[in-house]
Amino acid sequence: MTGKLVKAIDLTLARLAPRTASAGDLVVFVFHSLIDRPDDLRKELLDPYQPATVDDIDRLVGLLRARGFTLVNGRDLATGTVTGPAAWITFDDGYANNLKLLPLMRRRGFPATIFVSSAHIESGEAYWWDVLHREARRRKVPATDIAVRREQMKALPIAAIRETIIAEFGAAALRPTGDDDRPMTPAELAELAKEPLMEIGNHTHTHTILPVVDINAQRAELRACQEALERLTGQLPLSLAYPNGDFTSATVAAADELGLRLAVTCLPGRANLTRLSAAESRLTIGRFGSLRHGRIERELTLAMAMAGIATSLAERRRRQLVTASSRHR
Ligand SMILES: [Zn+2]
Repeated sequence: MTGKLVKAIDLTLARLAPRTASAGDLVVFVFHSLIDRPDDLRKELLDPYQPATVDDIDRLVGLLRARGFTLVNGRDLATGTVTGPAAWITFDDGYANNLKLLPLMRRRGFPATIFVSSAHIESGEAYWWDVLHREARRRKVPATDIAVRREQMKALPIAAIRETIIAEFGAAALRPTGDDDRPMTPAELAELAKEPLMEIGNHTHTHTILPVVDINAQRAELRACQEALERLTGQLPLSLAYPNGDFTSATVAAADELGLRLAVTCLPGRANLTRLSAAESRLTIGRFGSLRHGRIERELTLAMAMAGIATSLAERRRRQLVTASSRHR
């Protein structure tokens, strides 16, 4: 069954049997780039994957509060005192365009987390998926073909991805074009980390999709990001987002050993606050990740639905990985 079909069925079920949030609910949302207006994607500088406008986030916060949700971040959750229903808004990668969020956060008083790949902050290098999209579009490759290519490249170690990009488009292509597609600078990140509502989380050092490499390399990636972020922000991260949402049993154990208190995946399922004391639950928290512009309300309906097909599939996958994890220990 295709993802689209699963979603259509789940959405129909959700609308037939609406569910109100319960005290144990934790729903987590993932975003990447923030754009000013949907037309900005026409510049073709960013991989058009889960873009959101500041207005979208504003609308999401309003909808969540109207439904009784308290907005939290990983620092709040790590205290173990949050009572639900709770919602956590997260951004992956560390784009400078995420700085657009700050005025809204302050005005509406909600917390959020930005998960940062620290090597990008230090090097200023563009994210490879944006380079692929920008350069391939300049060569008139259809966007759907680029998306297929992107998914294939994710199977490679990060060094090989970089080499492929350089071989095909030249080293200069790795330079961002400007504020739309660049990572934050070290100074911007340090400033952002001072904002009391903002949490900075680990997203690995080089944005390595962890299961692609062996467990020693996974540990090194997680540790290098912890160390770099502590150096850059003065704070040791408590939360982790697995790049591409991917983890193995061993990854979860490594995150636990490093003292990371919470970790988020891309498996679309609600978490239960009462179960977060168990490492296997708090280090495999699901996230809803297709809040595309203009579909915020629809996606929230899905996130709140009775367990649909997508949620059941995600939970089955999570359990498989977690069970493997306890066997390894
Ligand atoms: Zn990422």
